[in-house]
Amino acid sequence: MAIHTATLADTVRNDRPEDLAWQADKNHFIHPYTDFTTFEREGSQVISEASGVTVTDTDGRTYIDAIAGLWCINLGHGRTEIADAMGKQASRLAYFNTFGHSTNVPASLLAAKLAERAPGPLNHVFYSTGGSTANDTAVRLIHYYFNRLGKHAKKKIISRNDGYHGSTYFASALTGIHGVHLGFDRISQDIVHHVSAANLYRRPQGMDEAQFCDFLVDELQQRIHQLGAENVAAFIAEPVMGAGGVLVAPAGYHRRVAQICRENEILYIADEVVTGFGRLGHWFASEDRFGHVPDVIVSAKGISSGYCPLGATLFSDAIHDVIAVPQAPGGLLSHGFTYSGHPVSCAAALATIDIIERDNVLGHVREVGPYLQARLKELMRHEVVGDVRGDHLMAGIELVRDRAGRVNFAPELGAAHKVFTAARKRGVIVRPVGNVIVLSPPLVLGKADIDRIVDTLHEALAEVSPALL
Ligand code: PLP
Repeated sequence: MAIHTATLADTVRNDRPEDLAWQADKNHFIHPYTDFTTFEREGSQVISEASGVTVTDTDGRTYIDAIAGLWCINLGHGRTEIADAMGKQASRLAYFNTFGHSTNVPASLLAAKLAERAPGPLNHVFYSTGGSTANDTAVRLIHYYFNRLGKHAKKKIISRNDGYHGSTYFASALTGIHGVHLGFDRISQDIVHHVSAANLYRRPQGMDEAQFCDFLVDELQQRIHQLGAENVAAFIAEPVMGAGGVLVAPAGYHRRVAQICRENEILYIADEVVTGFGRLGHWFASEDRFGHVPDVIVSAKGISSGYCPLGATLFSDAIHDVIAVPQAPGGLLSHGFTYSGHPVSCAAALATIDIIERDNVLGHVREVGPYLQARLKELMRHEVVGDVRGDHLMAGIELVRDRAGRVNFAPELGAAHKVFTAARKRGVIVRPVGNVIVLSPPLVLGKADIDRIVDTLHEALAEVSPALL
């Protein structure tokens, strides 16, 4: 049965195809990260068209997409150059596998372009289908790497509270956001260990930024000591935490952590699914923004500007040189996905890279990013805003009941969700995450778009504040 036609006949709002879609969605589509209470009541907003920095729903309402779809549609919507590149590739070769010794032109050329743009010796790419599978790949191949070195005990992975690394079973185990685990089982609890988030706003009272950095570094050192360095394979971190509430680490944190990892033969995995491909004004943030070269970089989302699913895990020469040695003559590296190196996704990524370079998108982000951050600081004039933070085109606005005491709103109040609703009513889509309003707009937005987003947030906060306080 395709759809519940009987239910449709009874409840459909109208008989336009878009209303049929709305009803079919309500009856059959289990959405990711859904609150079923509101879903049951309201159903979905059906987004049907998009152009530049805006999206339009089936009721004809147009919004500024201040979250780039979901941190991904970096070059904006409706880019015919990317669509054309995908269409051409689909007509020419839509798919053939890349297992063993077969390849395709876009996947090969993209691998070289990624290696050129990645820092230091990260010259080798394993393709997957998105951020979760790219993180799974990172860990699976790191375990294989240490096995090949005869270091079979090196299995544990240190991740961070509030880090988000995806939703496959293992990537969700890496994820440190408490709410993500509610009601679910956690596999790999003996493998994955979490340390504190680098949350400057919520740092222990009385510590300045430098002391907090020392505190985090000490904690990591102690945890490694506790677990035994010989048992720890890798540390994973987002350069700036995204879904955990846009948390920018204290100055020097990543460099110092990377140094500790090196001293203990622990590989550093930088999850750049959000921060890569220009969001912080560089191809990758690890080296250019935070001054260290990780052993592995995980990329997805912006790599294809969200036009097609694609994940890429970049490995250093040192890791590659170990995993590339066959276990026995003819032995396989037995890891891979049907869609590893999918030609259409890779064509979308090549077109993305061309546009970023041709239009100097990285330079543009370096210009408008600080403007967005500066304008958002104005929101501190609203009493419910406790903190405004971010880096270039990632921003978080944390709402609090009591600014002096940094006291959270109770989750059931849905404070950020109320701001989201008030902003959407005015034509701007932001993302509520707990008590934080998250922004991650397309990289190509202009200062006028930023003004509209910030002005709308002022109005939304003014509307909802009286009921919150
Ligand atoms: N890593 C980070 C930092 C992310 O933000 C996300 C998704 O938001 C993922 C991994 C998972 O990516 P995907 O949803 O493509 O599997």
